Amino acid sequence: MITRSETLFQEAVEVIPGGVNSPVRAFGSIGGTPRFIQSAKGACLYDEDGNCYIDFIGSWGPMILGHSHEKVVESVVEACRHGLSFGAATAAEVEMAKLVCGMVPSIEMVRMVNSGTEAVMSAIRAARGFTRRDKIVKFTGCYHGHSDGLLVHAGSGAMTAGMPDSLGVPAGCAKDTLLAEYNNLDSVKMHFGRCGEEIAAVIVEPVAANMGVVPPAPGFLEGLREICDTYHAVLIFDEVITGFRLGVDGAQGYYQVTPDLTTFGKIIGGGMPVGAYGGKREIMELVAPLGGVYQAGTLSGNPVAMAAGIAQLTLLKEYPEYYHDLNKKGDWFYGKIEQLVKDAGMPCQVNHVGSLGCLYFTDQQVINYETAKTSDTQAFAQYCNYMIGHGFYLAPAQFEAMFLSLAHTDEMLEKAILCMKDYFERL
Ligand SMILES: *Cc1c(COP(=O)(O)O)cnc(C)c1O
Repeated sequence: MITRSETLFQEAVEVIPGGVNSPVRAFGSIGGTPRFIQSAKGACLYDEDGNCYIDFIGSWGPMILGHSHEKVVESVVEACRHGLSFGAATAAEVEMAKLVCGMVPSIEMVRMVNSGTEAVMSAIRAARGFTRRDKIVKFTGCYHGHSDGLLVHAGSGAMTAGMPDSLGVPAGCAKDTLLAEYNNLDSVKMHFGRCGEEIAAVIVEPVAANMGVVPPAPGFLEGLREICDTYHAVLIFDEVITGFRLGVDGAQGYYQVTPDLTTFGKIIGGGMPVGAYGGKREIMELVAPLGGVYQAGTLSGNPVAMAAGIAQLTLLKEYPEYYHDLNKKGDWFYGKIEQLVKDAGMPCQVNHVGSLGCLYFTDQQVINYETAKTSDTQAFAQYCNYMIGHGFYLAPAQFEAMFLSLAHTDEMLEKAILCMKDYFERL
């Protein structure tokens, strides 16, 4: 019998490229039809066919409190009653900016935008304006959104699709993007040695979470800080995933390394389309209308989106023990997975930092893009299909992270582990 998801997908592919509005939602790399989701509550997703899944994507991060959190939904509904958009300044924007500056000490000023992509491209422009330099250093396998200059050897969907570079990116846009290897400071020093005076910024995911999950090696982030200081380049942490996830002050707090600029997305909007960039006052003061770096947005700081973000961040800020619990949950869960693949004699690697984790099907330790790519994506596809078929909704691609939320109970996680165990024992 044909499912409702299958019917919807057949209709979707006629009118939406690939049937999806973002490539990572497609099931191309594992086969099968994307599940069309009707609703979600806590850690559970319900599809159009009435199937229930325990969700390990969490909308790719934002749902750190679980889906449809009562306080977040209430705030949004209340904001809607006052109007959907004014295109004018609101009190909510001030509250949001104060919250972010209060939670993340390195942020002295912040500007709201509508997505992570926008946050990163704006932060890069600010860094270039500040330094009056053009070149940037990015790491192979890190994903910073889909703007031209950053879609060079990007992670996430681009990596899964085997498209290290996108069509339609003019060579001129990519020529100022210098590629370095994650966890390899020498590859960064090489660029600075050659043209350090022309490099505006180094942008990095402080925990790489778009080539699976790759933690920074000890000293890596500190080393980037030092290099940037030496050459007066701007250090940008792309905390679109790690921000408000590893702790109230993100990866910069977790690893105690302070960037000059930070980009946010995902969690900051509580599920609404929000991004933000901020950092040192002397850089942010260059942003229009105060300074000469132009950046604007008709719907930026939208009151409904701010209501969701404020509600979520406020809850996270008021209960910092949330992070202790969430990170502990992650240590336990990924530790269990590591043990079970070991017991099953599988050539697998489990990488994790707090609630973010990834299971790779390779016997090599995964420390960068090259080693991540050694993962057997066919083996992953089989495993992933089995898990989704048994009610555990994993990202349908090897190079995506698993996201835990506060709504995942021990019981749910134990069930997932049992299902994985069954799968590996049957192989
Ligand atoms: C998701 C992501 C982005 C892009 O954010 P969008 O909201 O999808 O545009 C940028 N950087 C990182 C690290 C991301 O994970």
